[in-house]
Parts: sequence; structure tokens; C-alpha cells
Amino acid sequence: MTNEQQQQGKDDLLKDILLKREQREAAEFEKKELSEADEKHRKEVIGMQRESDDAANVKRTLRIQANCDHRKGTVVKHKGVLRAKQIDFMVNHHVFSNGQQRVKCEKCSMKWYPGDTKEYLLRPVLSKTRVPNHTRDSQGVPIGWREALWMASADNTTNTRTTAERIVQVITPPDAEVPKTK
Ligand SMILES: [Zn+2]
Repeated sequence: MTNEQQQQGKDDLLKDILLKREQREAAEFEKKELSEADEKHRKEVIGMQRESDDAANVKRTLRIQANCDHRKGTVVKHKGVLRAKQIDFMVNHHVFSNGQQRVKCEKCSMKWYPGDTKEYLLRPVLSKTRVPNHTRDSQGVPIGWREALWMASADNTTNTRTTAERIVQVITPPDAEVPKTK
């Protein structure tokens, strides 16, 4: 083998090595790209799943709240009809330290705030966004803030009002239009 041939052989070997390295790097690059795309796709799918889970949860919660009688375990079957034994709403009137009031049903986690009417609820709280009121009492009458306060009043629940710090105004009893549930 001449020196020339030897050199040629070395060059070929080097070319071969370089080519193989290039191919390897290209493959690695492609793999990385693919896995990043996969990851992106995976996250998108998870995100979509989470969104639909959230939507399903919201739907479920709304359904539970719409069908809740907001009363303590008082429902008994009477001639096949579900009926409450007595009025004792499972609601709690709470006043936060900033004065914000809230009535919460401990049964379905529904929360009513001042400004909520029979027709709509202000959500998020303190915003001006109106969402349809999905809550009803056992007579099918919508429950707004007044009705929620009525349920939380001492006559209608054995729960007592809780206050974070300061006492705010005395609850005004709602007028005659408030449903008289029994
Ligand atoms: Zn409830």
C-alpha cells in the first residue's frame, strides 16, 4: 500500500466517521423534536381533559345545587314522596372581617351573596356579571340573597350566624313574597 493509498484510506475513514456522526446527530435532533411535539400534544390533551373535567364538575355541582333542599337530614319518604320533617335549613350565615356576607348551604356548597336575586347571581362575587340563578327551594321558587337570608334566620335554622370579627346590621326579615316552605 502506497502512502497515497494509506492517506486515502484515512480520509475515507474520517468521512465515514463524520457522516455517521451527522446521521446520529440528525436522528437525535429528530427524536428530541418529536418528543417535544409529543410533550406539547400530551399537555394539550391533558389540558383539554382537565377543562372537560372541570366543565363536568361544574355541571355536576350545579345539578346538585339545583336539586338540593338545603335542609339538614330531614328528608323522609312519606307515601313515596320525599318530604322534610321540619324546617331546619343546613345553611350558615357568615360575615367576613371585611363585612362581606355570605350564606352557604353545607349540603350542596351553594353560596349566596348580597346582590344575588331570584333571577340571577352575580358571579364572580362583587362583579357585574350576571349568571342565571339555578337554585330553587322545595317549592321550585328561586333563591336569591333575601331568600337565603330567610333560610339562615334563627326561625329557620338551628345554625347560628358566624362572624369573623365585627357585627354588621341586623338581618331584615324578607317581605311576604318570600316562599313559606314547610
Ligand atoms: Zn343546598
